[in-house]
Amino acid sequence: MPRWDPHDAQLVVAAVGKEPLCVGCIIKKTGVTKARVDAIVAMLGETLRVERGLAICSACLIAKEVFRL
Ligand SMILES: [Zn+2]
Repeated sequence: MPRWDPHDAQLVVAAVGKEPLCVGCIIKKTGVTKARVDAIVAMLGETLRVERGLAICSACLIAKEVFRL
C-alpha cells in the first residue's frame, strides 16, 4: 500500500487549487502530514501540472516555496 490516500489527496488539491500555498500552510489547512503532502505533490506532479517555486504564500504571506496546481 503506497503512502497515497485519495482522501488526503483531495484535501490537498482543494487547498492548493485556488491559491499558492507553502507546505506549512497546506499542512495547517488540511491536517495532512508533511510526509504525505510530499508524496501527494509528487504523485500529482505525474498527472497534473504542479507549479512549485518561490513566491508569496497566500496564507502566511511569507516568500517561500509554494505549490500551485
Ligand atoms: Zn504559508
